[in-house]
Formats: sequence, C-alpha cells, structure tokens
Amino acid sequence: MPRDYYEILGVDKNASEKEIKKAYRKLALEYHPDRNPDDEEAEAKFKEAAEAYGVLSDEEKRARYDRFGHQGVGANGGGAGFRDVDDIFDAFNDIFGGGAGGTIFEEFFSGQRGGRRSRQRARAGTDLRITLPLTLEEIAEGTEKKVKVKKLMGCEECDASGARDGEGGYRTCSTCEGRGELRQVSRSVFGQFVNVQPCPNCQGEGRVIDDKCPHCRGEGRRRGEETITIPVPAGAMEGNYLSMRGAGNAGLRGGPAGALRVEIEEKPHEHFVREGLDIYYDHHISFPEAALGTEIEVPTLRGTATLEIDAGTQAGKVLRMRGRGLPELNSQRSGDQLVRIHVWTPKNLSKEQKQVLRDWQGAEEFQPNPTRNRSQKSFFHKVKDVFT
Ligand SMILES: [Zn+2]
Ligand SMILES: [Zn+2]
Repeated sequence: MPRDYYEILGVDKNASEKEIKKAYRKLALEYHPDRNPDDEEAEAKFKEAAEAYGVLSDEEKRARYDRFGHQGVGANGGGAGFRDVDDIFDAFNDIFGGGAGGTIFEEFFSGQRGGRRSRQRARAGTDLRITLPLTLEEIAEGTEKKVKVKKLMGCEECDASGARDGEGGYRTCSTCEGRGELRQVSRSVFGQFVNVQPCPNCQGEGRVIDDKCPHCRGEGRRRGEETITIPVPAGAMEGNYLSMRGAGNAGLRGGPAGALRVEIEEKPHEHFVREGLDIYYDHHISFPEAALGTEIEVPTLRGTATLEIDAGTQAGKVLRMRGRGLPELNSQRSGDQLVRIHVWTPKNLSKEQKQVLRDWQGAEEFQPNPTRNRSQKSFFHKVKDVFT
C-alpha cells in the first residue's frame, strides 16, 4: 500500500493549493537527482513526492483521492503514471523552469532538464569512430597523434544557426508554441493520462527558420575535415578506446557535438612480438659464441642494450630484461623484454673445419648433458646498457 499523499508532502488534509506546491518544491529540491547522483533512495523519494503532487495539485484528482483513497486515482496508486524521472520533468515542465518568468528551480536545474532537455537530445551530433594505428614504441612512451577527421562541422556562414540572418532568422513554432512537444491528454476512470510527443513541425526544436542559410541548407553544419590532436597515454592496448567528447559530428543547428571514439590498433613490429606487457625478441648466436661466451647488442623499445652471453649457453635460453617491456595503463608496473637465444648450426663446412669438429666429436665435453647446465637458469639477466 503506497503512503498517504498528504503525509508524503508533509501537509495536512486542508492544505491550500499554494501550501501543497510549496511543500512539493521543497522536497523536489532536496531529493533532486542532479543533486543526489546515484542515490536510489533519493530518487524513490523524488518520484514519490512527484506522484503525490501530481494528484494533490489537480482539483478533480484530489477530490477523488479524498473520497476513495489511492483506489480513486489509479489501480496501484499511480495517479500521475510516471515512467521515470525524465517523465516527471516533462509533466511538470512549468514548475521545473520551463516558464518564461524563471523560478527558483531554474537556478538549480541549469537548463539540462525540463523542456530544453529533449530539444538538446534531438539536436545532438552523432559519435564518430576511427582506428589509430600505433607502433610499440609509441605505446610504450605515450604520444600525441594528429589525425585528420572527416566530419560534420558547424557552418561558419551562419554561425551554426542554420538561418541566413543568424539567430534573427528564427520564428517560434506555431504548432507547439515553442514548447518543442505536443501533449495529448486523455481521461479515463483512473484519471488523466498525458502523452508527450516531439513536435513534428519543428522536430522538437520549438522554433522554425524563415530564411535558411544557403550554405548548409538550414542544417547549421557542413561536411568538413578537422585536424584533431589525440593524446595517447602510455600503455594503451590494442582494442582500447579513447573517447573524446565533443570531437564527433556537430549537432543540428548548434546542438551539442557527438564524441570521437578512437580505437587503438597496434602496428606489427619488425623485431618484437608482444605478449601482454612483455615483449619477445629472438637473437641468433654462432656455435663458437655459444661455447666461448660473447657480448650481444639487442634492440629495445628505448634504444639498444648490450647483454653478456655466458660461455656454454644453450640454445633456447631466455634472458629476461626486467622492466624493459610495456608499461601498464594507469599504473607504475611494466613488463619485461625477453631475449630468446638461438644457436646457429653451421652448414657447408670446409674439409678442414669438418676435421676440427671430428677431432672433438668424441670428447666428453661435447656430449649433451642437459642436467649439467641447470645453474644457467638465472631468472633476471644482468643488462649492460649501452643506449644509442
Ligand atoms: Zn513545434
Ligand atoms: Zn549555414
């Protein structure tokens, strides 16, 4: 059973129309969704108050409510029949700052709600989507990319108004009298239902153009191309999106622009293969180098590095360079660079070379013995850096 409407508004049964309105305004301000974001309890109270006000502010409904209770104004007490919060703003447009005089509500509701809200929505520009190919180096460091984007832009000839004489070329729509919407009120035994639809004559704008701008044909926007600078944070991943509000298509006749959604695409790298935050690099050394030890130079995402290869290094050994991989987005963490060592087996040897190898083929040191080399599995490799 819903709460008593008088109790909700905190007024007594003999309250005047003025007292009811005042009580409702106070509650609506207190529990307004814009001032209580993501607060379900406040939203419920806001709706409850609107419900009560919807009935008690209507003389006929109030009389029925007084006689029959909730039953008298709707099956579930839904006397005003609101679907959601936006519905409430639509229904009480005159209270929520829609009036010409301006009310206390206007100061708080900043024109985002009420009648203006639906107009804004009707005129907003659409979102754009582009892909942005980046090298691993750019992803590692973060970068700024300049991209030319073809899109709808505000018409400069008419200052995006769509009218030849700018804002002066407009006239209030006579069909909806500037409200931007048409209301149909139907009555039934359960009460009054209001059906709100955007005005077909002005497409919800509330105004029409007398003399259209010839350059944009009254749209207030034209096809164009803009160079947009996209800031890419370090650590962006393939498939990540950056959303840039207001960088999409211009809205209709000065309406808000849509967003530009930028999808990150990773260019294949000539040396590296990425796996999560780690990058892999394959390096080949010669058979004598593997046996005698050497120093190798490897590319990294930031210059080159020199690594020591121990004598007796086996093929397949992985050297891990800590922190030389990719940074994680919005974190201090970084992956590693892993260098996989391959040993190049010589081909097409000369007679003399073959003879040298045959001389040693049977020696104990030349026999495979995997267990002997277990100590080689040092996890992090010492890097002797030489940056270029
Ligand atoms: Zn209209
Ligand atoms: Zn124009």
